[in-house]
Amino acid sequence: MTTNDPDCLFCKIAAGEVPADVVRRGDRVMAFRDINPQAPTHVLLIPRDHHPDAASAARAGTGLLDEIAREAHAVAESEGIADTGYRLVFNTGSGAGQTVFHLHGHLLGGRGLEWPPG
Ligand code: C5P
Repeated sequence: MTTNDPDCLFCKIAAGEVPADVVRRGDRVMAFRDINPQAPTHVLLIPRDHHPDAASAARAGTGLLDEIAREAHAVAESEGIADTGYRLVFNTGSGAGQTVFHLHGHLLGGRGLEWPPG
């Protein structure tokens, strides 16, 4: 699905209808700080178009996952965590903790990150 969904919170953030602390804005992808940060840097990267999750965007051949990874690295550089390392996570499905069904990558860094994640 690539049309915007009027009931989707992240579509509304992308459209500027719901406020967010935006750190980067591109033609297809934007980045904003997570409202409930789990690390000193916790930024969400979302496409403007609505895709429910990473798998559906990949299946549709959008190139968005590449773009999100590139944008995440640019944010990591501006946050000063590119050299120390960061994590880019796509929760996919409710069993993995996905609560907002609009593709988003979590960029996490600025503290030690354990493996495996919880
Ligand atoms: O992967 P998941 O779907 O659980 O991630 C959704 C994220 O969106 C959560 O980390 C939540 O804190 C964040 N969020 C936000 N701003 C909102 C609503 C949710 O940053 N207005």
